[in-house]
Amino acid sequence: MTDVDLDAEQYEKHREAGEILAQVRDEAADRVEVGASHLELAEWAEERIRELGGEPAFPMNISIDEEAAHATPAPDDDSTFGEELVNIDLGVSIDGWLADTAVTVDLTGEHDELTAASAEALEAAIETVEPGVETGEVGAAIEEVIEGYGFNPVVNLSGHGLGHYEQHTEPNIPNRAVAQSETLEVGDVVAIEPFATDGTGKVTEGAEEEIFALEHERNVRDRAARTALEQITEEFRTLPFATRWLDGPRPSMALRRLKSQSVVHGYPVLKEDEGKMVSQKEHTIIVTPDGCEVTTRSD
Ligand code: MN
Ligand code: MN
Repeated sequence: MTDVDLDAEQYEKHREAGEILAQVRDEAADRVEVGASHLELAEWAEERIRELGGEPAFPMNISIDEEAAHATPAPDDDSTFGEELVNIDLGVSIDGWLADTAVTVDLTGEHDELTAASAEALEAAIETVEPGVETGEVGAAIEEVIEGYGFNPVVNLSGHGLGHYEQHTEPNIPNRAVAQSETLEVGDVVAIEPFATDGTGKVTEGAEEEIFALEHERNVRDRAARTALEQITEEFRTLPFATRWLDGPRPSMALRRLKSQSVVHGYPVLKEDEGKMVSQKEHTIIVTPDGCEVTTRSD
């Protein structure tokens, strides 16, 4: 068995990231109300993270109804919340050590069961975690709770490890029982994120794309693209960023150029079939010798 020092600086930074994130998630959730602006909420939450001493690890995701993930306001977004199912997902980086959390706010007043299903599935999953547990067992706990409510887990989205400046690493934490899985070990930092839906349980890529990340750094000729790339490599590194985070000229065009040269890749919005609903809940955990520590729990 490897000897992992859970008091090491990197774990302290994961904990600090988690503490800031729990506070901002709760404050942001309180601001999700009918008539509030998506763009103002995202900018407020990202600034609040900085104010508390962190950096946003990725743009605030605001996913509505059938949208499951990767939706964030465009630079000129003027949408406001209606009576919808709103899923907010936020991340914090402290020197590249990350925390990731999400919660669903029901403005419809009609989806208590769906939001309870993902929330309970997350708690059941956390209960299973201890050194040596197979990720397939964690997924089985998620599947059982969600199916018990009569819904489907979204099976092509999963939890993940959090690496240094890396938002998605091994191991993969499935949202259902799988035969081939990996084992969690002391010191693993992972995000567990069950999604529950009244749809089929498979999301597909939509046309919208507002979140990007660096793929291969290389020289680019176009001036706007070069300016964007400088900011990306210096400020965001390999972490995801939004079009609206770019300070330089013509950011949308710069991103199209960078994408066409595979310098960056995009994260299209992921959604269930139209008219279906998706709820999500997510926490970040550190695996400890006798279970796990949830870094993004509210006080
Ligand atoms: Mn997340
Ligand atoms: Mn995540």
